[in-house]
Amino acid sequence: MAKYKRILLKLSGESLMGKQSFGIDPDRLADYARQIKEVHDMGVQIGIVIGGGNIFRGLSGTGKGFDRVKGDQMGMCATVINSLALSSAIGTLGIKTKVMTAIRMEPIGEFYNKWNAIEYMEQDYVCIFSAGTGNPYFTTDTGSSLRGIEIEADVMLKGTRVDGIYTADPEKDPFAKKFKDITYDDIYTRGLKVMDLTATTMCKENDLPIYVFNMDIFGNLKKVIEGEEIGTLVHN
Ligand code: UDP
Repeated sequence: MAKYKRILLKLSGESLMGKQSFGIDPDRLADYARQIKEVHDMGVQIGIVIGGGNIFRGLSGTGKGFDRVKGDQMGMCATVINSLALSSAIGTLGIKTKVMTAIRMEPIGEFYNKWNAIEYMEQDYVCIFSAGTGNPYFTTDTGSSLRGIEIEADVMLKGTRVDGIYTADPEKDPFAKKFKDITYDDIYTRGLKVMDLTATTMCKENDLPIYVFNMDIFGNLKKVIEGEEIGTLVHN
């Protein structure tokens, strides 16, 4: 019944804000946790990367006198905060979780390594990979491409607040048309802003398909897992 055996789910930090202008909206968090439970119940192995934009982005600090590397480290810490929140919300629903960190910070999370992550997912844990890649100048989109490739996920599911990739920003252009599927090369040539180029290139070079969909509608994650074409598939 499930189209994918193992997924890497990317959630943006910003979407965790829900209706708030900063931080974590408990209702949105609970909604995401319930959606994750729905697909966990289907036997899907789940790895998650969550951003930190609801708390801090390295780049936003540079204009205000922050050192870029320190700002990025703050951003990575923000992803750990979100990961802990998500793991707590999923745990409340009776699902085992492991927060893994790209930077050593036991006992907050276990230092990431591929083989432990796969073993945990095979034992039904939901693994949340935090602190991005562990390096400044990267994003959590790149972090999720990297983890998705490493854990040999069948697909990277990019949960956003729009229902796919459009010819233009649908929030600004009423004539924007949605793609059912699109190649990585088309994304480059059309200059579409799906993910940053580093993340897109990693997926392209390692043949990891990306499925972009609206995660803010309850039940959509399950629909994607069941193969319903509600978003846009990016492929080679
Ligand atoms: N970040 C980083 N290295 C990484 C991943 C993230 O330095 O590998 C920092 C960076 O400052 C970024 C912040 O963490 O702005 C939050 O991540 P991101 O902007 O990707 O979050 P999202 O937009 O998904 O909420």
